[in-house]
Amino acid sequence: MLDRFISWFEIEPASALLPYDGWAMSKFVDLGALTPPRRTRQVLCHACGDQHPRQLPLWADPEVTCGTCGSKQVELISDHMSVQIRLPWLPSTFARLLSGPTAVPMELIPERLWRLTTTTTSAGRAPVYLLRSGWHIDQLGIKAVLGQEESARQILITSSLLLNDQISTSHRIVIPMDEAIRIETEGIQLNHRRLGTVVTAPLPLWFTLEPPYNRLILGGETLVLRRKQKRFMRLLKEKHAIGFPSFDWRELAEECKYSRQITSLSQIFSDEVRRFIDSGHGHVWIRKEAVPRVIDAPPNNVELQDDQSQID
Ligand SMILES: [Zn+2]
Repeated sequence: MLDRFISWFEIEPASALLPYDGWAMSKFVDLGALTPPRRTRQVLCHACGDQHPRQLPLWADPEVTCGTCGSKQVELISDHMSVQIRLPWLPSTFARLLSGPTAVPMELIPERLWRLTTTTTSAGRAPVYLLRSGWHIDQLGIKAVLGQEESARQILITSSLLLNDQISTSHRIVIPMDEAIRIETEGIQLNHRRLGTVVTAPLPLWFTLEPPYNRLILGGETLVLRRKQKRFMRLLKEKHAIGFPSFDWRELAEECKYSRQITSLSQIFSDEVRRFIDSGHGHVWIRKEAVPRVIDAPPNNVELQDDQSQID
């Protein structure tokens, strides 16, 4: 049932009339996923040539005008039943399954993107989003909206995997709807195992820091860690691994139990270390790539010599 539903869910425009095919669609009408079937006529306009279906009660036939140009020179050429997708049904039902009977989804982009819930697990806060996918979607707009959402990790359930590789990041896990839910005659069923795995799985990291935590490898560069730097970086790695893009550096410093009061990161990290980490608004994070070393420009007409000593 899910495949059929997804094809309707993605159809553009979302209000398009779907020919009612009887028994197979009636289950979705009963669930509330589709509107009840209505009598529909195909309107052919002799003025502009347009042809489009229109839901019409019997008495309205003589008064029909073209929906495109308004002309009365129309011919009604077929009589059938049609339904429409009820777009809010899926996000509403999904939100209630994830967060209880009173949960209401937040529509972030009309008819496109919803925040279904904010689940809190031992791994942190992980909001779940639903994306109505398709061939012609504004990926930049979607990425911008998701980027504004504050969260360490995002779970994005998409109706299908069209173009989704460009939306996933190390902090945004994209899973196709057919892995997250099933639709049965009695309604939506969650795939708890798949969702649970995604919510609690460690995230892929962009750096290497393994026991005994004395070397941080980022891109092609290696940073040697000494004394309490090792513990600090290990704690920071653990925060990144469960989805925090950054973390309160004072909390980390406190856990490292420095003997003196630490009021600034520069007290514990040299400029060399700062090439690998960055900070702002009280938070610290491991950079995506190391900042290149600054090498003083040589004076004019003088060969750069002994630059190796500055690198070491
Ligand atoms: Zn017309």
